[in-house]
Amino acid sequence: MRNYKNIPYYILGSGAISELSGLLEKRRIKNNSKVIFMIDSFFKGKRIEKKLLSKNDDILLFVSTEKELYAEYVDELSDRIKNICRGELPVAIVGMGGGTTMDLAKCVSILLTNSGKAEDYQGWDLVKNPGIFKIGIPTISGTGAETSRTGIFTGMQVKSGINSDYSIFDQIILDTQFLKTVPLNKFIFTAMDCYLHDIELLKGNNNGITKALAEESLSLIREIFLKKMDYEKLMIASYLGGNAMATADGGHICHPVSYGVSLVLGIRHGLSVCLAFNALANYYPKEIREFKKILKKFNITLPKNVTANCTEEQFDRMVEAVLKNEKPLRNSFGENWQKIFTKNKVKEILKRI
Ligand code: ZN
Repeated sequence: MRNYKNIPYYILGSGAISELSGLLEKRRIKNNSKVIFMIDSFFKGKRIEKKLLSKNDDILLFVSTEKELYAEYVDELSDRIKNICRGELPVAIVGMGGGTTMDLAKCVSILLTNSGKAEDYQGWDLVKNPGIFKIGIPTISGTGAETSRTGIFTGMQVKSGINSDYSIFDQIILDTQFLKTVPLNKFIFTAMDCYLHDIELLKGNNNGITKALAEESLSLIREIFLKKMDYEKLMIASYLGGNAMATADGGHICHPVSYGVSLVLGIRHGLSVCLAFNALANYYPKEIREFKKILKKFNITLPKNVTANCTEEQFDRMVEAVLKNEKPLRNSFGENWQKIFTKNKVKEILKRI
């Protein structure tokens, strides 16, 4: 039977970031113990260094999150860190930013202690050695990447993740003051990501604890969407949603479809899951009504005919990428999933996006 793992430590509250240097001090065994800070480039020029860096030897890297995360970027950054550290591994990695930065920090931590390229570990439980000790500081909530066991990125063939117990952060700091910097449209799409994760986890065939976590996360997100915004609730909903994902045996249909769209068209995750869900009304008849109500409340009009100009070859690549997500699709349709969720059916859905 599977032995489920969730995140071991968290600190929650406004101003929690001030605990970081104390946490890092405990990891520094020698004078030259380095910490790598991977910070979303959004914070460039915002004097975040002063708050974070406690030792001269520490290395601060601003990471680009404008685009989706690609395998090449994970490899490039891991190689850069190896070169800087010259054989002596850092004692910790701190990732601070949105879901992409969280995923990047998780993947780099793995690649510093496991040989090969990021794509070698795309899949379930392929990582052999524990990664570098890692601390996650989410500055936008919803993706659940701060607590999930997956570091997602786009490779040559597939958008998928390193999915391993070793990719779970060792510590996270949930400081609600960061969420106040997030623009409303960005917040809606990341919160929607959380909402859709929860819906998929509840539809899928998952254990009771996963479902209870997803249920509570969904109820908090609903309060935020349909009543009023509350940063701490959003952070908690994301935390719970990520923990639910970490213990899930599989998701559902919406995320696999969105991965196909993102792989070929490079559409950002928050938007592509919304586009996918919008085309899956047959599979989520009850949930789609609430989804549309939320979009209307926040005046969001999803782009139409997104795949209208795609070539047959692009559709084939998308279909193939969707169907590579065997685990969630088996979870949705059972052992005979390939006979039910056929290539034609997937193509039909993609054409509706
Ligand atoms: Zn997602």
